[in-house]
Order: sequence, then C-alpha cells, then structure tokens
Amino acid sequence: MAALRGRLKHRPRERVLVGDEVTLAIHADGAATIEVLHPRRSVLRRRTPGKARGIRAIAANVDQVVVVGAVREPAWDDHLMDRFTAVAEVNGLPVVVVVNKADLAEGASDVAARYGSAGYPVLITSVPTRRGLERLRGHLAACVSLFTGPTGVGKSSLLNELQPGLSLRTAAVSVRSRTGQHTTVGAEMHPFGDRGFVVDTPGLRDIGVWGMEPLEVQGAFPEFAPWLGACRFDNCRHVEEPDCAVAGAAERGKIAMSRLTSYRRLLEEAARAARPWVSGRRR
Ligand code: GDP
Ligand code: ZN
Repeated sequence: MAALRGRLKHRPRERVLVGDEVTLAIHADGAATIEVLHPRRSVLRRRTPGKARGIRAIAANVDQVVVVGAVREPAWDDHLMDRFTAVAEVNGLPVVVVVNKADLAEGASDVAARYGSAGYPVLITSVPTRRGLERLRGHLAACVSLFTGPTGVGKSSLLNELQPGLSLRTAAVSVRSRTGQHTTVGAEMHPFGDRGFVVDTPGLRDIGVWGMEPLEVQGAFPEFAPWLGACRFDNCRHVEEPDCAVAGAAERGKIAMSRLTSYRRLLEEAARAARPWVSGRRR
C-alpha cells in the first residue's frame, strides 16, 4: 500500500489507476510513497450517465479486453456481449471473446462464428472438461488482460482453474486521498503467469453507451468497415436507408444479423441519451 507523494496528491486528474506503473520510494519506517506516475499506454474509460455525467477512468495500461459469456446458465445474450465489445472498441482496445460452459449446451460454435466473422479471436472453453483452457492461457501471456462479461459466466472459475491460488493473490490498489482516507479503486489486478496480469472490473458490468457519437457506435463494429463507403447515402446510419451496404451485407450473411441489430439498438440508445426528451424519460 503506497501513499501519493507531494504534487501527485494534489492533481486529481493524475489519480492512480489500477494498472498504473509507478516508481515507489520505500522509507526508513517501511512506508512506501508513489514518487512517479509513468506515462500510460492506454486508459480504459467508461461513460457515466445521470447527474454527474462524465467519463470515469477504470484501468490503465490494459492491453486487451477479454469478453466472457456462457452458452448456458446464463444463456448467451448477443446484445449484452456486443455492449462489452463496443466499450472495448471505443477505448481502442483489442477484444478476445470467450464462449464458456461449452459442456452445458450445443451451440458454442454458432456463437463463435458470429464473433469470428466480426474479426475477433474466439475461444470456446469449459472449466470441467478443460476445453480451450490452454489456448486461453496463451492469449493471456505477457500482457495485461481485462476480464469482463455478465456475472456467473465463469470468469473467476476460468482464472482460478488456469492459475490456482490466484484469488489469494489479489492486489487491490488503495490510494490515500487528500483527507488521509483510503479509497479502494473498483478494479483488481492479479499477476498471471510469468509476465501477465489480469484485471477484474466490477465497474464494467453495467455498461451505458451514453455519450457515444453515432460514428463511434459504427466504429465499434469493426466488421462494418469494408462496407461503409458503399451505402447510397454518405451519412447512412444503416437503419432504414435504402441501398444500405451494411444491411445488404447482413442479409447476405457477410455480417451477423445479431451484430447489426445490436448496432442499431446502441445507436438508438446513444441518440436517446443525447436527446433525453425524445423518450420522455428523465435522466
Ligand atoms: P463469474 O461471475 O463470471 O466469475 O462466474 P463464476 O466463476 O463465479 O461461475 C459461476 C458458476 O458457474 C459457478 O457455479 C461455476 O462453478 C460455474 N461454471 C464456471 N465455468 C463453468 C463451465 O465451464 N461449465 C460449467 N458447467 N459450469 C461452470
Ligand atoms: Zn448504410
């Protein structure tokens, strides 16, 4: 546990995040202070709706986002999963999709095909049969992976199976605030293997797309990219416009229809959030 030193303590924008790389000074009494906050390779941000609209940083230096879902218990939910991939995309982070609990139901390969055609690496896994676990381990080596996905899909089980005792090695970052109180940051980072780290974030589980621009929503679906120039209208939103190349690609099975549906829902949601009076809902 380390306290923030001098200047850093008074610059809230430089708040230390999970994943930050810092230089510590260890003092004679054994206390540590953070002397230097090193430049970040990436910052994962989440938009927060409501009164205190704003952007909240969740973790620094994340190299990839591992989006985990289950084929059953709970059932795979395309739209929910597409929200997780979209948040990663908007943050400019590579996505790996994990389809877990393959032992419980058929259909893992159909799910995998939808995300594979979106361009994502997809791993089909099962904790009891150990299917896909070594491939997953390979994807987690030597980088910082943020695990996210709905509750109960098996994220902790997968990580504990790959690295027994992991849960005992938790390293919650605790930062002493100006008032001297300790604030625990809502994400935990665990060493994984020789050089990797995994970050578990309760904060990403309830994702809003508030504040996403229409173009950002479109950019969060990388498989649309090859078709974007080919719509009849330059400003096509790929909703109901005639001669939409993206819709055409989905009808021909080049893009998963579920992904186009998710895109349209996120776009609608982003538009409604930007103009709260349209839905009549107060925010
Ligand atoms: P988390 O909330 O995503 O971390 O999910 P947990 O790791 O806590 O798992 C939720 C439940 O699913 C637990 O009862 C696990 O034993 C079970 N579970 C996890 N992975 C698998 C799997 O691959 N197959 C089956 N059948 N059950 C699993
Ligand atoms: Zn279009």
